Formats: sequence, C-alpha cells, structure tokens
Amino acid sequence: MGYLKNGKGKGVRSIESLKFIVDINVGKLARWLRMMGYDTLRFDGDDDWRMIITALREGRIMITRDTQIMKRSVITSGRLKTILITGDEPELQMQQVLEALNLDCQFKPFSICLECNQPLVERSKKDVEKLVPPHVFQTQNQYMECPACHRIYWKSTHWQAMTRKLQRLKEELTTL
Ligand SMILES: [Zn+2]
Repeated sequence: MGYLKNGKGKGVRSIESLKFIVDINVGKLARWLRMMGYDTLRFDGDDDWRMIITALREGRIMITRDTQIMKRSVITSGRLKTILITGDEPELQMQQVLEALNLDCQFKPFSICLECNQPLVERSKKDVEKLVPPHVFQTQNQYMECPACHRIYWKSTHWQAMTRKLQRLKEELTTL
C-alpha cells in the first residue's frame, strides 16, 4: 500500500479509500481501526467465502489470523489484499496492521462509531445536555453522535488513552 495520488499529483494518502473487513479471530482490531477513522466491518460468520466475497465487492482489505485462508488463489494472486496476523496480543496485532499498511497518515479519530461503524455526526453542547452525565457536560465541549445507535461520543479519558496508545504504536514503528 503506497501513497495514493490526488488530482494535483501530490503524494497523499486518502484515509477514506482504505476500508477493512476484520475476521472474528482478530475481532478486537475492528474497534482500533474505527478509532483511527477507518470504515471497518467485523465478520462474525464462519463462512470464509462470504467474507472474501464481501471484501472483494466492497473493496475492503481483509485482516485475519487464519493461515488456511491465505492459501486461497484470490489472495495468493494478489487480487484480494489480506493482512495475516500472527500475534495474540491486541496491541501487537494492531502494530502488525500499522506495519503492513505503513499507516503513517493522519488518523481521523472521533469520526466513526466504534460499535456500528457509522460515520459520526457533530452535535452541539446544547443538543447533548440531557444526554450526557453532568460532569461530562461541564468539562467537554465537543460531541459526536452515531446516527444508528445514538451513542454520544466525547473525548473521555478512555478515548484519550486509546489515542495515546495508537500514537505510541505509531512512534515505535517509525523508530524501528
Ligand atoms: Zn453506533
């Protein structure tokens, strides 16, 4: 995965153009990728072929731990880009993804629902007054809402911790 060119011929990566489908055996990666702003489906079924078809149809990069899938001609031929994950630990798995794709572009955190993969919509502080805990309302000014599940997102400490972790993983990669 290299640089994607924009119309002006400048080397830029377009985050919108990268989409993923994550196998259930590495399902935790889905949240991380959504956290970074990537459209990511989690495939919960056990029919590999359906996962492959979905990936091809929607132009998604497949992520799996299944070494058997890697032997399929659609993958060995390079038609379907697939990342094989070998580690157990979610953080290391994420690092493998970053490494495989060289994802050193700017992430777009806070843009996709971690639960249902929908693009978030901005909400004003007033909109969410009755929807978030008072201490959150007092301290946070930026809110996003998922149009599907109506979860409200704000930059909570948990969210900040995840972003910091991603940042650190990224930095570790660039110093290798
Ligand atoms: Zn949602």
